[in-house]
Amino acid sequence: MDTLMLNKDASPISILPLSAVGWQDAIKYMWLDRVTVLEWYDDWVVRSPSWETRVPAVMMVKDYVRKSTYPRFSKYNVTLRDKFTCQYCTTPVALSNVTMDHVYPVSMGGSTCWENIVASCMKCNTTKGLQTNQTKTRTLQTNLL
Ligand SMILES: [Zn+2]
Repeated sequence: MDTLMLNKDASPISILPLSAVGWQDAIKYMWLDRVTVLEWYDDWVVRSPSWETRVPAVMMVKDYVRKSTYPRFSKYNVTLRDKFTCQYCTTPVALSNVTMDHVYPVSMGGSTCWENIVASCMKCNTTKGLQTNQTKTRTLQTNLL
């Protein structure tokens, strides 16, 4: 990777693996007028029969690139949010035996997202059929208070 890409506030943009792009892409962005070149390589010129240009070393995008600030939805992150405790009985749970429970069941249209998924111990998740959903929701709200 040849050229460092900076966001409009000068923080590096996460373009994998680093905030860097190859020189071909760097020149493409330059031509598309999407970037401002801050620094050039002194000794690196690329040529074609009809043009030549120095290769940019550092560029800044003209439009701010929004970064995702919300953590990725995953079993680990949900368990972390719920502080490694079952949200129904408050028993500590390890990542190896935590289960992801739909507060509002999938069968009733509940979705798999941050708002509807909680960490649950195996026992509470398997007694799901014995409890009504409303009872569970009430228990959950009490635990969160
Ligand atoms: Zn539990």
